[in-house]
Amino acid sequence: MWIKTLREDDKLKEACGIFGIYSNQEIEDIGHIIYHGLYALQHRGQESAGIAVSDGNRVNSYKGMGLVPEVFAPEVIELFIGRIGLGHVRYSTTGSSLLANAQPLVVKTAAGTVAIAHNGNLVNADLLRAELEEQGSIFQTSIDSEVIANLIARSGEKDFVQAVAKSVARLRGSFALGIMTENKLIGIRDPHGFRPLCLGKLDGAYVLASESCALDTVDAEFIRDIEPGEMVIIDENGVRSYFYTEPQPKALCIFEFIYFARPDSVIDGMSVQLVRNAYGKRLALEHPVEADLVIPVPDSGTSAAIGYAEQSKIPFGEGLVKNRYVGRTFIQPTQKKRETSVKIKLNPIRKTLAGKRVVLVDDSIVRGTTSKRIIQMIRDAGAKEVHLRISSPIVNNPCYFGIDISSPEELIGATHSVEEIRREIGCDSLGYLSMEGMGLCMGVPPEQFCKGCFDGCYPLDVSHLDHKKKSIFE
Ligand code: SF4
Repeated sequence: MWIKTLREDDKLKEACGIFGIYSNQEIEDIGHIIYHGLYALQHRGQESAGIAVSDGNRVNSYKGMGLVPEVFAPEVIELFIGRIGLGHVRYSTTGSSLLANAQPLVVKTAAGTVAIAHNGNLVNADLLRAELEEQGSIFQTSIDSEVIANLIARSGEKDFVQAVAKSVARLRGSFALGIMTENKLIGIRDPHGFRPLCLGKLDGAYVLASESCALDTVDAEFIRDIEPGEMVIIDENGVRSYFYTEPQPKALCIFEFIYFARPDSVIDGMSVQLVRNAYGKRLALEHPVEADLVIPVPDSGTSAAIGYAEQSKIPFGEGLVKNRYVGRTFIQPTQKKRETSVKIKLNPIRKTLAGKRVVLVDDSIVRGTTSKRIIQMIRDAGAKEVHLRISSPIVNNPCYFGIDISSPEELIGATHSVEEIRREIGCDSLGYLSMEGMGLCMGVPPEQFCKGCFDGCYPLDVSHLDHKKKSIFE
């Protein structure tokens, strides 16, 4: 028997979520507010969580491995007293799943204490790290945040905001950043806007969050998204905005809409749920099939399945029930019963499925292993036919911008044709949303998104990176 991460399924992993808050006055329950903000962002990272809080003079922080409620016991949350806070949830691959790499990273600099929380992946981190080491920096972690901290510390600028601006201008890759000092909170988005970051207001306080769902959770009012290339400084003077670079082509990660973000979030003005719904409708137009029932793989396929059912006029139903109370890890049964790992999470409803021609909708296929088990489970429950519809194009390239796709060899879409995949996973028919169809659903020009894992066209030069490196954000 061994312990296995339950998230070790057939899904891509988002790297991180950020939540920050600033007020000129002490915030009652600051620990609770950040805790609930991070709780709402838990889907963006399940390996570690951390919170740093400043009372205006001193920064206190606490980090741990695990889910937010596993890391923060009520008595820990209550210890946080202050008016500025920054929290982070992180996903990492096994090699870098260390407490030292948990964030926010809190460091002492000549300008005072600095806490940094990063969502994304720098493609020039190795180069910057080597340069900084040559200048005498000693690194204690393998995370990009430490590179950023060292750049700020060695910037040569006396003014902290200028030091940050000068440092982030040197970064290449994807980064949504929260940076906190004893008396400031700064939110930054990379020039392409790969990862989301938004600004809200809660009573007299300002809030930064990776997704708007976290603002809703703490009852904060959404103000706006941080723009690509923008740095928002929140301090005693209020909110100031600063563009630290020339405008660059936008490249918001389209996978945020396919799978990563919560459906109740709105990113750059687009409702995630409505986009997923549109994907499903388009999928029904592109891949119609005669069937009795449309069911989602819960929860990731639900919005698209509703769209498919609406467009096709085939009834929508729940054929699979998800166990919502499964924790982060579980005891892997035995080698012989590996398929049990899917059954722990999903159970078919026989009465709904028996004798039916089923359209099963999911958001993506990575390795194909989970799809295969789910299809078999539906057949075992008596379904006559299973037609799999995927609300994204074929994933066949790695991601270099903070998502855990290590190498094309691990992607069934990179090594098999659609017909080969269909045979391998055992469905009666298989249809993917087309690139064109996905673009049409966005409501804004498709050129404004990164789609690199589908078409291999990346917004930045990544030719120097080794796609076989196990973790791109180690
Ligand atoms: S390569 Fe794919 S997962 Fe990575 S940022 Fe681009 S769209 Fe998102």
